[in-house]
Amino acid sequence: AVPTAPLRARAEIDLGALRANVRTLRARAKDAVVMAVVKSDGYGHGAVPCARAAVEAGAGWLGTATPEEALALRAAGLDTPVLCWLWVPGGPWRQAIEAGIDVSLSGMWALREAVAAAREAGRPARVQLKADTGLGRNGCQPGDDWAELVGAALRAEAEGLVKVTGLWSHFACADEPGHPSIAAQLDRFREMLAYAEGQGVRPEVRHIANSPATLTLPETHFDLVRTGIALYGISPSPELGTPADFGLRPVMTLSSSLALVKHVPGGHGVSYGHHYVTPGETTLGLVPVGYADGIPRHASGTGPVLVDGKWRTVAGRVAMDQFVVDLGGDEPPVGSEAVLFGPGDRGEPTAEDWAQACGTIAYEIVTRIGTRVPRVYV
Ligand code: PLP
Repeated sequence: AVPTAPLRARAEIDLGALRANVRTLRARAKDAVVMAVVKSDGYGHGAVPCARAAVEAGAGWLGTATPEEALALRAAGLDTPVLCWLWVPGGPWRQAIEAGIDVSLSGMWALREAVAAAREAGRPARVQLKADTGLGRNGCQPGDDWAELVGAALRAEAEGLVKVTGLWSHFACADEPGHPSIAAQLDRFREMLAYAEGQGVRPEVRHIANSPATLTLPETHFDLVRTGIALYGISPSPELGTPADFGLRPVMTLSSSLALVKHVPGGHGVSYGHHYVTPGETTLGLVPVGYADGIPRHASGTGPVLVDGKWRTVAGRVAMDQFVVDLGGDEPPVGSEAVLFGPGDRGEPTAEDWAQACGTIAYEIVTRIGTRVPRVYV
């Protein structure tokens, strides 16, 4: 096997924290089932280990974007119900049907492909009809579009080619308290549910809530909540509160270790473009991770790192494989731990701190941590 370099960079994944988060979310969701959203390799935490831990802690469903992600869960032996929602024409419909994966349908083209694959597979496709209640992204428009999809799905169900297992939608602004689109989407969702159920659809699950809705809008829970970011112990938005405010524990700690510590004089340019010039004689520490590992180049000059008990800042540009911190004259030994982010309980920055430093959201910070960084499960 090719060796990994956990001292160069490691993403420690605390599955105990993830299990605790699932239990916290189950308590919030009350009678609704928790779907653990493990798309994009479990938001960078590792889809299969996180899915297993979530199921152990009582998640009743798994959710992925792509069918390939859903099939990978089945290949790993997970037999929990799975929904995948991002399809393109020619996708692996038949494999998904044979693996008992629920497929989301956003329009007639998708129903046609699911029906054709169900004929080939000789068994019905489990389908969930996706309503666009206002996000303006995936899903069927209210009105004629919805009526056409519902009608065609019911006819296919009568022929034994599909089973309509779910009706669902997704919020645009659930992380912005009081945003008027929340109530508008909820009203439209209720209307679209009422229409479909009036036509005879008998779904197993109706759902619209993501993490922010699960945490703050109990009236949106219906039968199931789809929690992604909260599962990983990250707040959907600083506006809503910290993870601790919701009883959530951050799951990922990203750390590295100093590959070099050296003295330099004042006026010394640091990293490509010399965007940082040492203000006086100082020490520099080399952190051997870079944008190829998923450290945003936007962290140049701003990203916080805990070294030797103090927050240091990325000095100059983040390069592909390394960046530099100004240690201000301190001389921690080579090999000293450099913690980029974690739960914060040892004084380290959090993923939210990195998001703020880079002008993005914490979702992007954890999701982009690359495959060159070994995940270490604890
Ligand atoms: N549902 C759908 C359709 C999504 O695309 C996502 C993620 O973006 C989620 C649920 C989970 O959202 P969150 O991570 O905010 O819980």
